[in-house]
Amino acid sequence: MAKIKNRTLLQGFEWYLPDDGEHWNRLKKEAPALAKAGVTHIWLPPAYKGQGGIHDVGYGTYDMYDLGEFDQKGSVKTKYGSKKEYLSCIKAMHEEKIEVLGDIVFNHRMGADETEVVRASRMNSGNRNETWDGYHEIEAWTRFTYPARKGKYSKMQWNYTHFDGVDYDARTGQNGVFLFEGKHWDDEVDGENGNFDYLMGADFDLEHPEVINELTAFGKWYTDMAQLDGYRLDAVKHMDAAFYRNWLSAMREYTKKEMFTVGEFWSPDVWKLKSYIDKTCGEMSLFDVPLHFKFHRIGTANSGFPMTQLFAGTLTEADSWHSVTFVENHDTQPGQALQSSVAPWFKPIAYALILLQERGVPCVFYGDLYGIPHENLAPVTHLETLMKLRQSHAHGPEHDYYNDDNIVGFTREGETVKKGLALLLSDGAGGSKRMYVGTQHAGQAFIDILGNCPEEVVIEGDGNGVFRTEGGNVSVWIPKK
Ligand code: CA
Repeated sequence: MAKIKNRTLLQGFEWYLPDDGEHWNRLKKEAPALAKAGVTHIWLPPAYKGQGGIHDVGYGTYDMYDLGEFDQKGSVKTKYGSKKEYLSCIKAMHEEKIEVLGDIVFNHRMGADETEVVRASRMNSGNRNETWDGYHEIEAWTRFTYPARKGKYSKMQWNYTHFDGVDYDARTGQNGVFLFEGKHWDDEVDGENGNFDYLMGADFDLEHPEVINELTAFGKWYTDMAQLDGYRLDAVKHMDAAFYRNWLSAMREYTKKEMFTVGEFWSPDVWKLKSYIDKTCGEMSLFDVPLHFKFHRIGTANSGFPMTQLFAGTLTEADSWHSVTFVENHDTQPGQALQSSVAPWFKPIAYALILLQERGVPCVFYGDLYGIPHENLAPVTHLETLMKLRQSHAHGPEHDYYNDDNIVGFTREGETVKKGLALLLSDGAGGSKRMYVGTQHAGQAFIDILGNCPEEVVIEGDGNGVFRTEGGNVSVWIPKK
């Protein structure tokens, strides 16, 4: 039987990559090294033209049919390169058996070509169901004609009827949340601020048949064009759950493939995540945002965090099947708006946890693997070693020891006596713990592959070993060759 690899997802970008249109070329060159490090899936950044042209990270979505092909918003290339380079990068990933996830931004459009006069009501920003001043005319940036593309791939031109609202009245220069007359915010969205449908830009009416049809047609076009193997879905808590439930099943019916999909539902509340998974009938996994917040808190708690509670209230604990675990991303990284970055000392520990445990699909952040020159941040220590260990040693039954406020860990028995591991970490002082790795390992010496603890551990006759860790660090013990 062919050995099924432990899935490892790489987020293939960070916020501060240079605006040089060369990222697809850089990633393409890295494909063999990534495969060697154990990457099985890569999430590529939004590949279509944003309102900021070559400077746009990709979430200011202007034209999803422009993958770096048309002279729009000041350049042909996107921040990451041309369409040809994008497709070539994906081909290189496929040659290394790495599956590619496209980043799908369907919540909004930005950088419209023209304004339209629309009747709208400014809503109370704390409760978007409450009107502020009644309906009146505003001038909204809602007309998207894509003059440079000239109808290639799709003739659809968006206008105000396809959106629920905007955040700017060009007539008065006023900012706010404006709901168009005759529209209501989409149902089945997050309940924060009364209704959290509105996030930014011109917000799509995802209950409008023309919008649904066009985004479905786009999905098929994009999936074929880029030969995608799955998706990363942006801002799902601001979108009607019914939309993605139907869109994803349409894509799977069309491709006849698994199409591994992970959604970004940005909330520390695991019950909101569970509820969204239920509403979307389990069609997608979600990032374990509650676990990220735990990592953030531990990093700043100076050993005060009770490690027995590490996974309490996380998606990994509540529904590991649908959990994509991560330490950092392009929104949480230092200098970005969410301000929840994980302390550098804790990152190797957090990565050891998510990469070596059985639960969840771990997502490694590009900025942690390669460093973030813009912020003078070096790559996370041991990260590549841990990714390789995931493939070589993290197999077999797991035994958990989350039974101390500081020193916790787990073991994997391994599929053969040469494999398996024991992980022990501490967010406080160093110490040891007796853990079971399996009687098949009796008499065998284990070493700390990360090199933090020099003495060997010999497994006792009953399959237990007394493993050690330094304070504020992690040790990963594997059978000595
Ligand atoms: Ca929305």
